[in-house]
Amino acid sequence: MSLLCQKNSYLQEYQSPVRSCQPSSLNVNGKHCQGFDIVLEDSIFFPEGGGQPYDTGLLDDQKVINVRRDGNQAILFVEGDHCRFDCGHQPLQKIDWNRRFDHMQQHSGQHLITAVALKYFNLLTTSWNLGAEISNIELDSTQITDETIEQLEQKVNEKILENLPITISYRDKDDLADIRQQMELPDDLNAHSLRIVSIESLDKNPCCGTHVSSLSHLQMIKLLGTQKGKKGKTLLFFLSGNRVLKHMNNILVREKLLSTSLKCTAEEFVPIVDKLQKNVRRLQKNCTSAMRDLARCEGEKYLNLLDKPRLYSIHRKECEYDFVTSFFNTIGDPTSIIGDRLILISLADDCNSLKSPGQIVIAGNQLLVEKSAKIAIDSFDAKGSVSSGRFRARIPDVSKLPKFEQMITKQSLMSNEN
Ligand SMILES: [Zn+2]
Repeated sequence: MSLLCQKNSYLQEYQSPVRSCQPSSLNVNGKHCQGFDIVLEDSIFFPEGGGQPYDTGLLDDQKVINVRRDGNQAILFVEGDHCRFDCGHQPLQKIDWNRRFDHMQQHSGQHLITAVALKYFNLLTTSWNLGAEISNIELDSTQITDETIEQLEQKVNEKILENLPITISYRDKDDLADIRQQMELPDDLNAHSLRIVSIESLDKNPCCGTHVSSLSHLQMIKLLGTQKGKKGKTLLFFLSGNRVLKHMNNILVREKLLSTSLKCTAEEFVPIVDKLQKNVRRLQKNCTSAMRDLARCEGEKYLNLLDKPRLYSIHRKECEYDFVTSFFNTIGDPTSIIGDRLILISLADDCNSLKSPGQIVIAGNQLLVEKSAKIAIDSFDAKGSVSSGRFRARIPDVSKLPKFEQMITKQSLMSNEN
């Protein structure tokens, strides 16, 4: 493959005659698209290759949303029903330069990290991935210390300071003795000569991608850390060029938001959050204890009722299921204590919303529990089941509980009449 974008990766606009234009359909980012496949005499649009994603941009005023490779040519896909380009017409190719230059910075950044990792730290790169926000290199080792990462980052940035040129050359396939890594190239390329990307005095590697012309165009590389990879491998995450600034800006925005929220400076984040977490744990403990006391009181209140109603309900907006457990522990076995009556307890998920989802528990007379469960499932979208004499279920809207209670009471009275 030798497209114009590979000869001069800095061309942002170019005009070249249309060689063919065919109706086509393509799946782009999971979406089925109808449009046209266009092949030009020469293309500054880069098709996917060497780990680098394809370019996007404009062909005249039509959006190019995908570029793929067929042998030595690039096929540009333009979406739409009316975007025919006549053969011989010379549309203006205009690539999305921000996207392309970002890809060039990540790809050349990968070559640099890979070369330095091998030369100075004996760490071999086995693959890499250019991510939408963060890229990674797969290293053939599991023994990479934080100190090595720090030294690698320093060395890589020293090379950027040296501003070494990056050049493209072509080599015969039989003459690759000093080449870093012979990657497997697609069979349909059938090239006798390979495209070699070289970083002066540091690296030579076969690659089809678009690259910056010198290391200074990488600006800076930041290594973000490692993660365990496939068997025997480690993933090293990195940012190159403008992504470092973008990442830094995101961190600053988050820092500002946190400073406002926590009412402190960034230096105080860790001690303040530690203190807050300790407070939250203490409050949770107090809250759980108070809730259990409350549940016991509610249980005793029920036991002391002289004239127990047919349906006794408790609605809590701020309690966990622990409340239900403590309540029933206090009143004992519901089937013997409650007799032919029912107890309904509801717990809302969100105490600030009237229509919050939540959960319900119904206990008491076995037959009535089963009948109530059926009403809850059939008429109130409850999801749950009867187990050990209790019906426990999730409900989508606690505001409908009064209506539900009316229906149970009616059923309960009818059952009594029978
Ligand atoms: Zn490459």
